[in-house]
Amino acid sequence: MTDPDPNTLQQRYQRVLNRIRKAEAACDRTAGGVNLLAVSKTKGMEEIASLADLGQRGFGESYLQEALQKIDRLRDRELEWHFIGRIQSNKTRPIAENFDWVHSLASLKHAIRLNDQRPPDLPPLNVCLQVNTSGETSKDGYSEEALREEFEAYTKLPNLRIRGLMTIPAPGAEETAQHRPFERLRLLRDELTRAETPLDTLSMGMSEDLEAAIAEGATIIRIGTAIFGPRQYNQ
Ligand SMILES: *Cc1c(COP(=O)(O)O)cnc(C)c1O
Repeated sequence: MTDPDPNTLQQRYQRVLNRIRKAEAACDRTAGGVNLLAVSKTKGMEEIASLADLGQRGFGESYLQEALQKIDRLRDRELEWHFIGRIQSNKTRPIAENFDWVHSLASLKHAIRLNDQRPPDLPPLNVCLQVNTSGETSKDGYSEEALREEFEAYTKLPNLRIRGLMTIPAPGAEETAQHRPFERLRLLRDELTRAETPLDTLSMGMSEDLEAAIAEGATIIRIGTAIFGPRQYNQ
């Protein structure tokens, strides 16, 4: 629809990178320890390509059909694609075949399908298990108790590499309250991590709460609006 103004995109991107550096410094974390995932759902090829020109490699998508088109058309750019949306049982194959990461895994059944469908010529699929840290019944993700019970089974799937945990807290919390779900995710990660299954990833923090997430140990933050501007849903 509208042609993105590259200066605007560049300025927004730079502002996000500055927020990350400031947040890392504020809690004495090593500069560069936080990976920025650009959430490009609903955004067009040109915007993704422009951001790739600015050096961004990782892109997060929530809607499978839309994502597959982008992955196909941008194949020669060698981007890293992360699936962050809701997984449907009958749509696991294209996820297993086309993505580098899945952040939104919350079902052993889906995990087994992804494991079986991952092409043998690709490295294991990196996955994060999604945890519901705010206790809202409407949100996807494991409760902490349920994940403790099933976690072991995930570590037995050779074509999945269990990297860590992901959460999407309820929106709208004040800065101090934003820390709580991120702290819970970090503590759960520490509890589940083993020498054989080191969990090196905490996927947490979005446009509104990335500072709190970084203070609590985020290693991947998923940022859409602050980079690309507001999303428009036409369909
Ligand atoms: C859309 C989305 C984001 C990005 O949210 P913003 O508030 O636009 O930064 C992050 N994570 C998930 C899982 C999303 O669906």
